[in-house]
Amino acid sequence: MASRARTFDPASAEPFKVSRSKIDLFSECPRCAYLDLRLGVKRPSGPSFTLNNAVDELLKREFDIHRGNGTAHPLMSRYGLEAVPLADDRMEEWRDALRRGIAFHHVPTNLFIRGGVDDVWVNPLKELIIVDYKATSKKVGPSKEEDLYDSYKRQMEIYQWLFRQNGFAVSPTGYFVYVNGKSDAKAFDGKLEFDVELIPYAGSDAWVEPALFDLKQMLLGEEIPAIGTAFGGGPCDYCTYREEAGKKLQALHKKTVHERQNRAVLAR
Ligand code: SF4
Repeated sequence: MASRARTFDPASAEPFKVSRSKIDLFSECPRCAYLDLRLGVKRPSGPSFTLNNAVDELLKREFDIHRGNGTAHPLMSRYGLEAVPLADDRMEEWRDALRRGIAFHHVPTNLFIRGGVDDVWVNPLKELIIVDYKATSKKVGPSKEEDLYDSYKRQMEIYQWLFRQNGFAVSPTGYFVYVNGKSDAKAFDGKLEFDVELIPYAGSDAWVEPALFDLKQMLLGEEIPAIGTAFGGGPCDYCTYREEAGKKLQALHKKTVHERQNRAVLAR
């Protein structure tokens, strides 16, 4: 059963569980991370990407066939990558973010970091290759490193860090299996066709541990971090809007309560 998310308690000696997506949230906006992890106020989540989930599931099944047979997937051969899907009894556990995923207790911060990886391959040097599946639908699909969002790169690097902390040799190059739904077909005909690309990314996990120390320091603090710049160069529009709206609503609420009290006094 999935454990209930809890907020950070500075007085607790228990390791605090942090998913890799929360580290990403912290990298994007410390204020959002504080609201979430310390105050229990989460960002509103958008609609779930059911089509992406279906693509993920189908890709997993396809790579699992090759995992079972110990063979390279044709995509690996197409890109000249010498690797096969890793056959390891812990694959399902590492993939399941809700149960445990790949996890590590970082003792200096007492943070317990975890996340569910999409896939792991292995090269002839016995290095693990971290793999992430991505789906989109664009006129020109992503095909190179510059097409990757920074959050995708951070995601890859956190997984590389997690596997290294678990004692595995990990290739510095991870791969994104990027599928692009083709919207230029002549007719829908009940099926969506995809182009599949393999995008290598040579990441560096050097930032992960310093980020954990920063995150811990923020969690221990009593001050909410400043409005961030996550969505564009200037101060975040959403937070500015939220604060302005909050102030107006509070003022209105005070005024209404005050008027109600006055009416009650007059009615006596
Ligand atoms: S600054 Fe933006 S991203 Fe950060 S907490 Fe406010 S709304 Fe969220």
